[in-house]
Amino acid sequence: MCPTCRVGQMREAHATYTQWYEGELIVVPNVPAQVCDYCDEVHYHPVVLERLNQLLWAEMKPSETGRSVQRTVHWPSA
Ligand SMILES: [Zn+2]
Repeated sequence: MCPTCRVGQMREAHATYTQWYEGELIVVPNVPAQVCDYCDEVHYHPVVLERLNQLLWAEMKPSETGRSVQRTVHWPSA
């Protein structure tokens, strides 16, 4: 059961994870997630979140050539 609306069911899906970091939008497509079929709430497994953080920290180096507005980080496929 969905913990947010308590009505819908969570189903396995892939979502695009986005996070702002110092004015830059970090986009990670195709991240495994669970999505509510009622309210579309997206939940990430703690293991997935941990891996996301590792990915993002590895990517978040100061840019030498100026900032882009958006950066896409690819989720490593198994
Ligand atoms: Zn829901």
